[in-house]
Amino acid sequence: MIIAIDGPAASGKGTLAKRIAAHFGYQCLDTGLLYRAVARDLLATGQSLEDDKAAAWTARSLDPKTLDDPGLRLPGVGEAASVVARIPAVRAALLAFQRDFAAQEPGAVLDGRDIGTVVCPDADVKLFINANVDVRARRRYVELKKRGEPVTYDGILETIKARDARDAGRADAPMAIAHDALLLDTTDLDIEAAFDAAVGLIKRKIGQQG
Ligand code: C5P
Repeated sequence: MIIAIDGPAASGKGTLAKRIAAHFGYQCLDTGLLYRAVARDLLATGQSLEDDKAAAWTARSLDPKTLDDPGLRLPGVGEAASVVARIPAVRAALLAFQRDFAAQEPGAVLDGRDIGTVVCPDADVKLFINANVDVRARRRYVELKKRGEPVTYDGILETIKARDARDAGRADAPMAIAHDALLLDTTDLDIEAAFDAAVGLIKRKIGQQG
């Protein structure tokens, strides 16, 4: 069983993916961490995020054991990740790891931008999670403020808009809604309501198959 979850930054897809995986007893992979780790490793060795060859080499050498590094969650790393994510050779280098993860029994949940379209086009269930950009910025602002990060709401709103545009506008595997994805808009939902709605959609879809 493969559940593919895509959506823009701060849509709530990461939290939903973890909760859904725990609910069904599946493994969960936040695929954004792979791109974040490539950016981290490039920057740590003083290389440019725009250097296609260095980025591809770094992606091929990535150690998945370093994906639990809390530094990957810092806001600047998400920005840097979306710059390296534009490079086709980086995306190609990370594909096999994601597909192997998805093939685990009894099932896997993967969240990202291109899971339903490119990584797992045959996923059993595809969800595309979205929310109004102001609501997403507000959620991210509250989360980062709680962590003591020196952020402003306007700064976050601009960053999220720029990241959405970069992720949706790139040539290779842009963020997109798969033709067979189920849409979930979390603008007016808290996490509990969003989780209930997502589980409902998944059960209905699996029920239809069986
Ligand atoms: O989801 P997260 O914010 O951690 O992702 C960081 C960046 O990694 C995204 O903005 C996007 O550019 C890239 N990404 C991607 N494909 C994925 C997951 C993330 O291009 N499947």
